[in-house]
Order: sequence, then C-alpha cells, then structure tokens
Amino acid sequence: AKEKGRACYEIFDPTMHVQALARLELESNLRHAIEQNQLFMCYQPIISFKTHQLKSFEALIRWQHPQRGIISPAEFIPVAEETQLIVPMSLWLMKDVAGQIKAWQQDPAFPREITESLRVSINISVVHLQQKQFIEQVDQVLQETGVSGKHFIFEITESILIQNVEDIIQIFRCLRDRAIDITIDDFGTGYSSLSYLCDLPITSLKIDKSFVGRMIQSSQNRRVVETILSLTQQLELFSVAEGIETIEQFNLLKTLGCHYAQGYLFGRPVRSPIASQWLTHAPL
Ligand code: C2E
Ligand code: CA
Ligand code: CA
Ligand code: CA
Repeated sequence: AKEKGRACYEIFDPTMHVQALARLELESNLRHAIEQNQLFMCYQPIISFKTHQLKSFEALIRWQHPQRGIISPAEFIPVAEETQLIVPMSLWLMKDVAGQIKAWQQDPAFPREITESLRVSINISVVHLQQKQFIEQVDQVLQETGVSGKHFIFEITESILIQNVEDIIQIFRCLRDRAIDITIDDFGTGYSSLSYLCDLPITSLKIDKSFVGRMIQSSQNRRVVETILSLTQQLELFSVAEGIETIEQFNLLKTLGCHYAQGYLFGRPVRSPIASQWLTHAPL
C-alpha cells in the first residue's frame, strides 16, 4: 500500500498536492473550530420597503481562525458539507441564534413589540436538511432553548428544487407546523423547476444579489427581477431582494412592489451587540 501511495504521489500535479493539503488542513481545523469557540454569527438587517422598519435579520456564520483571521463561509461551508461537519455545525448555529433571540427578548432595553415579532433567518444547507435527524435537531433546539419556531426563517437555496419533491414537501410541512417560515434563497440562479414551486409550502422568495446588482444597467436583468416579483405576487408569497447597495436599486425595487430589502445600503452583517442597535433605532 505504501508503494502504491508513492506511485500516486509521483503522477500527482504538485499544485494539486498543495491544494489537497490545504484542504485537509482546513478540514481538520474545522473539526476543532466548534469546540474552540472560533465560530460566531453576524446579523444583517432586512427592512420593509414600505415602512423602512426592521423586519428580520439574516444570521451569517463567520470563522475566526487563529492563524488565518476571518475565513468566509463561501470557503468553509462546502468543506463542512462534504465532510458532514455541517451537521454539528448547524446544531451549534441554531442553538447560538436561538440563544441570541432569547437574549433580545429578555433584555428590557429592547421594545417588546419589536422583539415579539422579530424573526431571524438562518441558512440551511440542503445536505443538512436531508439528514434523517434534521427535524429532530430542530425540535431539540426549540425545546432546549424554549424559543418558538415563529422567530425563525429557514433560507434554503433553489437547488432544493431538484430533490425528490415529496420528501421536501414533507420536511417543509414539518417546519411550517412549528411556525418556521421558509424562503427560497438565491432565486433565479439555479435549477428552477417552477412546476414544483406552487406545491411547496414556502413563505417567500429571495431574489439573488447578482440580478439586483445588474438591474440598473441591464434591462435583461431588470426583466428577470420583474418576472420573479410577478411570480411571487401570483403565488401569494413575500419577496426579498438581497445585495441592495444603491438608492437607485432600492427605488426601482420599491416601484416594482418588492416587500423586503437587504444590502450594504442599510447595513452589513455585524456582530450581535452592533446589530442590537436596530432594535432601538427609529426607522430610516
Ligand atoms: P447567501 O445566503 O446568499 O448570503 C448573502 C451574502 O451576501 C452574504 O455573504 C452577505 O454578507 C452578502 N451581502 C449582503 N448584502 C450585500 C450587498 O449589499 N452586497 C454584496 N456584494 N454582498 C452582500 P457571506 O456572509 O459571505 O455568505 C456567503 C454565503 O455563505 C451565503 O450566501 C450562504 O450561502 C453561505 N453561508 C453564510 N452563512 C451560513 C450559515 O450559517 N450556514 C450555511 N449553511 N451557509 C451559510
Ligand atoms: Ca441566505
Ligand atoms: Ca442569497
Ligand atoms: Ca448566495
């Protein structure tokens, strides 16, 4: 076996070797990241186009690596998914977010009418959602923390639409039974089996930031956004636009009847003490 290993090594492209090593190292570091408290959540505000008031936060994970500094989820989530580390990571994440919701509710500094109706979106990996224990884990978090499902939105990417619809409908029903809202994330970028969409018990569609980013310059992109918005109206869903960076984008989306807005124009993802300011500030 040793000889075979050596033979493989010889035909290996050296740059691949370096990449494979880096990947292995990332994987082993990630295993410890949870226990060593290196993961943390940031919160980005989502506001109503109509009232300019805070509607919800999107929770986004960050990894404070001891040597490399902050690593983007775009780099380590795929590794977590391939290695199944996504399961313990998501469990940690759901508990952390639930704990934060509870802390906001219990802090008298924040108006009850805001914390009572506040929801936090979390990104659920399709890999995690398909695990047998998924719903059990959700129940475990809700029970242990005593936080109601009505404070959660699960963001699930459009790639879910290529999975077995019956299975997905069943899982989504379970979530809706627990008052958890469901949004299809990155809508318009992927596999669009539109026929399934009306069968799914979802609450909203999130327009991908790639369309929002180009909608002013490109009439084609604008038409995609218009189409998604008229689809959400027809299906009686809420619409969320992400990646709003300019007033022009904001105004156009408002004119087109989009419900909720997210983007650097209003606020970047920040740690909870800073995000908390959104709970006391007057609307924009
Ligand atoms: P996503 O779910 O589509 O999240 C939106 C991304 O857009 C976030 O990047 C956010 O910081 C960024 N963003 C928000 N507003 C703007 C804007 O105005 N302009 C631009 N250019 N970007 C904006 P982030 O936090 O780096 O996350 C990247 C992706 O990693 C997420 O895309 C999501 O797919 C994944 N991810 C992040 N956190 C989690 C998590 O807790 N669990 C899972 N499973 N995936 C996560
Ligand atoms: Ca998302
Ligand atoms: Ca998205
Ligand atoms: Ca995305």
